[in-house]
Amino acid sequence: MAIIEVMQMKKSFGSLDVLKDVSFDIQKNEVIAVIGPSGSGKSTMLRSLVHLEEVNGGSIKVQDQYLVKDGAYSSQSQIKAITSRMGMVFQHFNLFPHLTVQENLGLAPKYVKKQTKEEVRKNGAALLQKVGLLDKADVYPGNLSGGQKQRVAIARALMMNPDIMLFDEPTSALDPELTGEVLAVIKQLAEEHMTMVIVTHEMSFAKEVADRIIFMDNGQVVESGTPDQIFNQPKMERTREFLNRAT
Ligand code: ADP
Ligand code: MG
Repeated sequence: MAIIEVMQMKKSFGSLDVLKDVSFDIQKNEVIAVIGPSGSGKSTMLRSLVHLEEVNGGSIKVQDQYLVKDGAYSSQSQIKAITSRMGMVFQHFNLFPHLTVQENLGLAPKYVKKQTKEEVRKNGAALLQKVGLLDKADVYPGNLSGGQKQRVAIARALMMNPDIMLFDEPTSALDPELTGEVLAVIKQLAEEHMTMVIVTHEMSFAKEVADRIIFMDNGQVVESGTPDQIFNQPKMERTREFLNRAT
């Protein structure tokens, strides 16, 4: 069952066509890795799925509800209902520096989901435990390493109990020795069959964790397939060239 269907999505910034008829779908419980050169439109694609960007054409359907259909967006309340089921993790963490870890985690559940203090505390503790940071609940982000900040950002996204998690290069702002701890958390989510779309430069991680790889170049999905198909027998010359440079 497709949980997300993207049909002929188009996006331009002024005269720059950044997404050109992008189509793909994501099945429930599937882990998709999106790879491709810098500037190919990966972030714009991901941001469009959660309505951080508005597309100029095409359709995005999430769990049988249209976020946008043939370029026409649904009502604000429907958009909110759809995007609230998706959790997003950014390259640069985007934690609030003036709030503790626990307060960062509690913000959206308290104000958007109207959860009680007790619920928020309980869920927060469980998720901090899951990402291995239970002892950091009362610490400010400034006192955490990059890897710890990113694990907090993942826990924060999970607080909303999303059906789909989206990651935009979650490790590319980290020193190499800190990427492993973040990838381990994502891998654990994959083992729990969380539906995920992960934009990444980490080819070996993509190969290991993804059910399917989407290769994007120049605003298009050039090809998609299993890790074995993409890495060992790519159909398109552009994919081959990219992988030769990237691996
Ligand atoms: P990727 O994530 O694959 O590196 P992006 O989606 O960030 O690619 O960017 C694709 C293209 O869109 C790039 O040429 C980038 O400069 C351009 N772009 C992205 N965001 C904006 C924006 N807000 N305004 C203008 N151009 C943008
Ligand atoms: Mg990007």
